[in-house]
Amino acid sequence: MPNGEVAYFSAEFGLDESLPIYSGGLGILAGDHIKAAADLNIPLTGVGLFYKKGYFQQQINESGWQQQHYPDVDRKASIYPLQPVMDAEERPIIIDVTIAGRQVHATAWCIRLGSVTLYLLSTDVDANSDADRDLTNTLYPSHPDVRISQEIMLGIGGARLLAALGIQPAVWHMNEGHSAFLAFERIRMLSAEGVPFETALEAVKASTVFTTHTPVPAGHDVFSIGMIDHYLGSYYWQLGADRARILSLGELDGVFNMTRLAVSSSSKVNGVSKLHGEVTRELFHRWMPHIPIPDIPVDSVTNGVHVGTWLADGIKKLYDKHLVPDWAFRTQEPQVWAAVRDIPAHELWEEHQQAKSVMVQQLGLALASPDENPLIIGFARRFATYKRALLIFSDLERLARLLSDPERPVCLVFAGKAHPADEPGKELIRKIVELSREERFKGRVHIVENYAMDKAKKLVQGVDVWLNTPVKPMEASGTSGQKAAMNGVINCSVLDGWWVEGYNGRNGWAIDGDTSGDPDQQAQQDSDMLYRLLEEQIIPLYYERGDTAIPTEWVNMMKESICSLTPVYNTHRMVSDYWNQIYVPAMARGRRFAADGLEIASRVGAYKQFIRDNWSAVHVKKVELLDADGGSNGRQKSIFRAEIALGAIWSKDVRVEAVGSDGRSGIWRSKLEPVHQLTAGQFVYEGASPDIPIDVWRANVNVRVTPISPDFANDFELELGAWG
Ligand SMILES: *Cc1c(COP(=O)(O)O)cnc(C)c1O
Repeated sequence: MPNGEVAYFSAEFGLDESLPIYSGGLGILAGDHIKAAADLNIPLTGVGLFYKKGYFQQQINESGWQQQHYPDVDRKASIYPLQPVMDAEERPIIIDVTIAGRQVHATAWCIRLGSVTLYLLSTDVDANSDADRDLTNTLYPSHPDVRISQEIMLGIGGARLLAALGIQPAVWHMNEGHSAFLAFERIRMLSAEGVPFETALEAVKASTVFTTHTPVPAGHDVFSIGMIDHYLGSYYWQLGADRARILSLGELDGVFNMTRLAVSSSSKVNGVSKLHGEVTRELFHRWMPHIPIPDIPVDSVTNGVHVGTWLADGIKKLYDKHLVPDWAFRTQEPQVWAAVRDIPAHELWEEHQQAKSVMVQQLGLALASPDENPLIIGFARRFATYKRALLIFSDLERLARLLSDPERPVCLVFAGKAHPADEPGKELIRKIVELSREERFKGRVHIVENYAMDKAKKLVQGVDVWLNTPVKPMEASGTSGQKAAMNGVINCSVLDGWWVEGYNGRNGWAIDGDTSGDPDQQAQQDSDMLYRLLEEQIIPLYYERGDTAIPTEWVNMMKESICSLTPVYNTHRMVSDYWNQIYVPAMARGRRFAADGLEIASRVGAYKQFIRDNWSAVHVKKVELLDADGGSNGRQKSIFRAEIALGAIWSKDVRVEAVGSDGRSGIWRSKLEPVHQLTAGQFVYEGASPDIPIDVWRANVNVRVTPISPDFANDFELELGAWG
C-alpha cells in the first residue's frame, strides 16, 4: 500500500504527557488512533497543530480555585522526536494561508511512528506579525477570532501542507468538525484546475469521512456568518461558486456550523458508540426534517483505547506470562483474553496492589491511616458540568458514613481540568477541595492537580473502581473506563456511551436511571442508585475476604471485566473497523468519482443540481388503500395506490415507498412501483402492504418520495423527501 492513503485531521493529538497538545478524550482518542494505525501498519498521515504552549498546566490554589499556567512546550522533552519539515531545497517548509485578508505563514513539525507520520503546523514563524505568531499558542482558545484562525490553518493549511509534500490521500478523515475547512481547500485546488464547483464538491465528498463526537447542539463549533465573510470572503471566488452556495454547506439556524459543513462534505458520517450514533441521528433530524430518524445516514464505530499505552507494567508482565506470546498484537481476539481466567487469583490481586501502591505514592495521596488499604474509587476526566463530578456528594451524611466505616474504609480520588472559560467547571473543583477539607472527609476525599496522561495512567491502573456519572446521553463514548478495565479496575458507570455496549451484568456495575424526567430528578435517582450499589454490592464484595487474604469474588469480577471488555474496547479493533467499514469504501468511492476526468463526480453534481432545481414540483397527490386477495392471521394484504406528481423529474430517479413506524423504535418500508402514467409528469404507483400485523401498519402510514441514484453513498444523500 502506498504511503499517505489516509489523512487524519484532528485539532488535538494526545500521544504522551511529554507533548501536551491535547485537552481530553478527543485528543487521547486521536493519539491512540494513530498509534494503533502504526501497529497495524496502516498508511496514515496525521495532521494537526503544534501549540507552542499546549493546553494549560493546572494548579489549584489555597481557596480551591483552578489557576492556569502556560509554559512553552519543551519540544526536546517529547518522547516522540519532533523533526522540522523541510521543502525540496532542505529549508523549513512554509505554508501560506490567507486569514481575513492577511497572509499568515506556518511551518510544520513531524513525528514518525512506523507507517504513520504526524504533521503539526505552527504559525510561530519570524515572517508573521506578533499576533499571528501567537495564533497557534494554545489549544481551544476562548476568543472566536483565534479559534477560527486556528481552524482555517488546520483545514486549509493542513490540506496545503499535504499538497506541498506531494501526499495525495485516498481518504480524508475529519476527527470532529474543527478541520472541516479542508473541504473548501480541496474544492479550491480542483477549481484551480478548471473543475466546476459542483463536480469538485462531489469528488471531495466521495473521499471524505467525518467522525462526530458531540451529542448536543451546543457542543458544535459555530461562527457567525459575518465572521465567515470576514475571514474567508476573499477566498470564496476561488472555489468557483457564489457566496450563497458556499455558505449553504455550513449554514444552519443563522450561523455557520462546522459540523454541518463536515456532514455536507462527507460521504460517511459516524458517531463514537452505538448510542451516540442514535443520538446523532436524532440531532441531525433537525437539519433533515424530511428523513425519519432511523433513516438518517449516520453509523457508529465505538471508541477504544491503545492497550500498549494504558497498561500498567506489572499487569503487562502478568499477561506476558499467562497469555499467548504475541497477545499484544492480537488484542482483538477474545480467545487471547480468555486465558486471563486461568491467572491465579493471588497473582492478579498482587499486581493490582502493586499498581495501587505506586499510584498512592506517586500521586502523593495522604491516606487517613498509613497501614490501611482502603477501597479506592477514582473519578478523573475534564470537569465539564454534564459529567456530574459532584453526584456522589448528593447526600453528604450518607457518603460520610460510607467512607469512614473503620472496618471497611473507602477513599475517593478526583482529578481533572476545567476549560479556562468554564466557570461552573472550576466551581466543581473548588467544591471538591472544600469538601475534602471537612473533618468527616479528611483523608477520604482527594483531588489530584494537573490531570494529564501521566496522572491518568496512574489512576486507571491503581484505583479499584472507576466511577463515571454523566448525564445520559451526553457522554458520546467515554474512554477512561476502557483504560481502567484492561488493568483489572472495575467500572461503575451510568449506562451511557460505550458502557451500554460493554456492560454485561457481570463485569461491573451500572447506574441505570430513568432519563425521561427532569435533570434534578435524574440526579436524585442516579445518586440513590449509586449509593445503593456502593452499600449493598461494591463495598461488601471488596471486603469479602473469606478465609484467604484475597477477595476472591472481586478478583473474579476483575477477570470478567478484562476478558469481556479488552478485546472489544481497544484501538486495534476500532481502527480495523474504521479501515473495513469506512476507509476502504471511501477510498473506492473516491477513486471511482475521480476516474476518467472526474466523470462520475461531474454527473452526480449535475444530477443533484437538476433534482434540487425541480424538487418543488414533486408531490404525493392522493393515497388510496385497496383490498387484495389472500392474507391470514391478522396479516391481511392490502395495496397502496398513490398518485405522484414528479414534474420534470424522471420516475427512475425517485423511490416511492409507504413508510411507517413499526410500533417500536424502527420503521417499516414497502416499495411502490409505477403502474401507469396519467399525464406528463404524473404517475400512479402501487405496492403491497408490509408483512406485519395490519393494526400496526394501519396506525401509521405515509407515502414518501425520495430522489435516488446508484451513485449516492446512501439513500438520503440529497436530504430531500416529499410526503403524503
Ligand atoms: C482518557 C483520558 C480522557 C478521556 O476520558 P473520558 O472518560 O473519556 O472523559 C481525558 N483526559 C485524559 C488525560 C485521559 O487520559
